[in-house]
Amino acid sequence: PYEVLIVGGGPAGASAAIYSARKGLRTGLVADRFGGQVAETIGIENFISVKATEGPKLVANLEAHVRDYEVDVMDSQKAVRLTKERDSSGLYQVELANGAVLSGKTVLLATGARWREMNVPGEKEYRGRGVAYCPHCDGPLFKGKRVAVIGGGNSGIEAAIDLANIVEHVTVLEFDSKLRADEVLVRKARSMGNIDIITMAQTTEVRGDGNKVTGLVYTDRNTGDSHEVTLAGIFVQIGLVPNTEWLKGTLELTPRGEIVVDERGQTSLPGVFAAGDVTNSAYKQIIIAMGSGATASLGAFDYLIRHSEQ
Ligand code: FAD
Repeated sequence: PYEVLIVGGGPAGASAAIYSARKGLRTGLVADRFGGQVAETIGIENFISVKATEGPKLVANLEAHVRDYEVDVMDSQKAVRLTKERDSSGLYQVELANGAVLSGKTVLLATGARWREMNVPGEKEYRGRGVAYCPHCDGPLFKGKRVAVIGGGNSGIEAAIDLANIVEHVTVLEFDSKLRADEVLVRKARSMGNIDIITMAQTTEVRGDGNKVTGLVYTDRNTGDSHEVTLAGIFVQIGLVPNTEWLKGTLELTPRGEIVVDERGQTSLPGVFAAGDVTNSAYKQIIIAMGSGATASLGAFDYLIRHSEQ
């Protein structure tokens, strides 16, 4: 069994793994996809002490740093269940999708978050055929075409600015009466010339020709009128959902599904810790996820020295 069994291989999980291994603890790390959201990111300019880097580069550095220590990295493995109680040997069990069961004296959950879906007709059918969630990955596919960005928060406006450099035209559709993005981003978007921003717009349908996206339909929430926009791509940027479906009923979650942690990263289950975007931390950033991974790992270490038999 592991002394610290980490689930998640993003910045939080990687940081936790290094801190655990440096304490001489037997550390295992299971990740559906090592790197997490960072793997989908292009420019990173707020990772302090590194002026500018790129997602895949940072992921490679994270992995190299983790592999410098004695950490069992189990990549491409999905956890599907965590036991609520310890077994007779005092261990928690994490069951994987492939049926394997791993045990840990402590478990550290760092499963991050993912993009929220619109849940409108056509979205699922045309996913990957015009409906996209990662502008950095899929933006170039729409070179010279018209696209929409759904959502006027930071990620939506960032996506619009990014895409406007590649595509012919970007329409931003925001449900609310105003954009939630930082002023500096909104100013930049408005200065670009090929970005239209429509507020009070509820997207109701993704239209396609059976093969790929041809447009979308939205309702103007001021008038109730329905409008169709002709375009080739739709980038959905309406927030993050914590990856905790598999933990429902096992430990305390907020109404939004985030794992509730204390200042040491301890969850409602003694000896189970959590870190990063999956928790109820105020802000979701790489440096914050790494800091909380370190905190939770030290929390687990502290727990282990207080609860070992001898
Ligand atoms: P994640 O990065 O989400 O990693 C979660 C890990 O858990 C992954 O390895 C995943 O595969 C794994 N996992 C999930 N479920 C399971 C399961 N059931 N079993 C096993 N493994 C599982 N932040 C910045 O600071 N600066 C930026 O410039 C920036 N730009 C961003 C751009 C984009 C496009 C995106 C998507 C995010 C950006 N962020 C940025 C946010 C930043 O990426 C996140 O805050 C950070 O990655 C969170 O780290 P994490 O380790 O908590 O979770």
